This record gives sequence, C-alpha cells and structure tokens, in this order.
Amino acid sequence: MPARAPLALTRRRWLAASSAALLGSVCEKHSALLAQATSASARPELIDIHQHTNYHGRSDADLIKHQEAMGVTKTILLPAGSDALRPSTHNGKSFGLAARVLGNEAAYRLVKEYPDKFVFCANEVTDLENAIPVMEKYLKLGACGIGEQKFSVECDSAESLKMYDLAKAYGVPVLLHFQYKTYNLGYERFYQVLEKYPTVNFIAHAQTTWGNVDAAHKQENLYPTGKVTPGGLTDKWLTNYPNFFADLSAGSGLNAFTRDEEHGAAFFMRHQDKLLYGSDCQDALGVPEEKNCCGSKMIALIRKLVPDEGARQKIFSGNTKRVFKLA
Ligand SMILES: [Zn+2]
Ligand SMILES: [Zn+2]
Repeated sequence: MPARAPLALTRRRWLAASSAALLGSVCEKHSALLAQATSASARPELIDIHQHTNYHGRSDADLIKHQEAMGVTKTILLPAGSDALRPSTHNGKSFGLAARVLGNEAAYRLVKEYPDKFVFCANEVTDLENAIPVMEKYLKLGACGIGEQKFSVECDSAESLKMYDLAKAYGVPVLLHFQYKTYNLGYERFYQVLEKYPTVNFIAHAQTTWGNVDAAHKQENLYPTGKVTPGGLTDKWLTNYPNFFADLSAGSGLNAFTRDEEHGAAFFMRHQDKLLYGSDCQDALGVPEEKNCCGSKMIALIRKLVPDEGARQKIFSGNTKRVFKLA
C-alpha cells in the first residue's frame, strides 16, 4: 500500500518532533500548568463551617496546614466574644469559647490575608451591652453569619432575640453551641425560636444538638452511646423546620453517627439538605490517624455512610453555600 507509506512516515516524524518538544522548557511549564488544573478540578469542593483562630494556642500556619491536609477548599472562622467577666462567660471560665480562641479582629485579619481560604462570622457575648453594634460592625465588614454563640444564656433570652433580629436584618445564619446546663440553655424550647424567626437560618452544634437525635436521650448525658431511637428533637426539627440546620463538627457530631452507623446512614440520607460539614478540631495534622482529629474522621465517615455522590456533595459544600450565601 504505497499510498500509506508517506503518511506513516509523516506520523512517525510528527511523533518524534512532539517528543522532542515535550522535553523543551515551554512544554514542561505547560504540563505543570495542566497537572495543576487537573488536580484543582479533581479536588472536590469541601467547606468547613467550624474552625477557630488560636484554637488552644494553635498557630495560623498550623491551622492552614490542618485544613489543607483534610482537603478543605474554604473554611469559615468562628470568633470568640470579648473577655467580659459575667455569668454568661461563667465569670471568665468560658473566655475564648473555653478554648483560648481569639475574637472578631483576628478572624477578620486572617480573611484579609487569605481571602481564597477563609471567610468569617461575627460574634460577641450575647448579653454584653454593645453586643449588637459589635456584631453589626463585622457584618458590615463582610461576615457571613453570627457565631459561634457559646455563652451561658437562655436560648430565647431577650438578648438572644435581639441577636436573631440582627441576623434577620442582615440575612445571615446563626450558629449556636447547645450544651445542657452550660451554653444556650433550654434546647427543648428552641422550636419556638424557629417558629418566631422563619426567615432566619439556625445552625445547631454540640452535645445537646447531637444527643437529641435520639428520642430516648437523657439530657445530662453529653456523649451517649449505643443504638439510637429515631425521632429525637433534633431529628424532628430537621424534618419540620426549613430554617433549622445541624453542624456535623466536633466529637459530639462524630459520636452521634459512630454510636449507631445504621441509624447514622439513614439520618444522613433523610437530612441530606440540612447537614453542614464542619471540623472544630484543634490538632495540627488533619488526618484520621491523629486521635483528636474529628474533622478528618467525619470526612471518612461521610464517604463511608453516604454512597450517593449528590447527597455527599450537599453535605460537604452545597448546603453551606446556600445557608451562608457563599459564591
Ligand atoms: Zn467551636
Ligand atoms: Zn483535626
């Protein structure tokens, strides 16, 4: 087939020329760029709604390393309130969200330094005289929510309602740490807040939120074990109230799913539009082998218990983008 010979030759020559070009510096640069683009597009969007600056003294550099190790693409920083000596801060025992966490200014500074990595919420001690103007100042500076509210006040106190009014005016969610007899008291009444503020999205976090997935929950038991009876307050409210969401972070979030994986898998499926991934861990490694890294353990657990790619993506980023109005 003489007609094909020149073609084959041409192709061989072209291949040879291409290989030579691949060795050239221009092509090296090009393939580096290509590899970068491939890894960026292969990296699924993963938003962590619950992290802190200076968490038990952890440096910003270690926080960044931790988030990168977990594969987090964007992190929401939750500042502490002011060091105000009063019952709502347990007269100082709960300063810095009881974890040496820094306030609004530190979070805002980190966002300005790394705008591609971080966004932040505004916060203040709920019953401080100037709580509303302080939170409003940072909302005006771009805060995308209010929290982490971790103070010893009734969850429907007059001051809390003023804060929910502020959230309503700015169209931002409020993230609350519910802990029996310690922070945001009166969880069993919280449905009344959900009804009073139908346009405000509330994100519930911590022990009392997660204990109450169980209809048989004993409120004083912060880390319950064993099989879950479906239909606890948290389960019911996630079903009944479109403005109620849950933050999967911390040991309490992880415990709610590891104590009964069968219930956990079903819970993930039925509330796939209402659950937001968060880590809230203070370690510097960001890997499941690190004992305290509940963030990376939760990522692995979601991958295990949520086989549906669409549901998983909602939990990892879609729900958060909607609730926090992130681009
Ligand atoms: Zn926290
Ligand atoms: Zn961690």
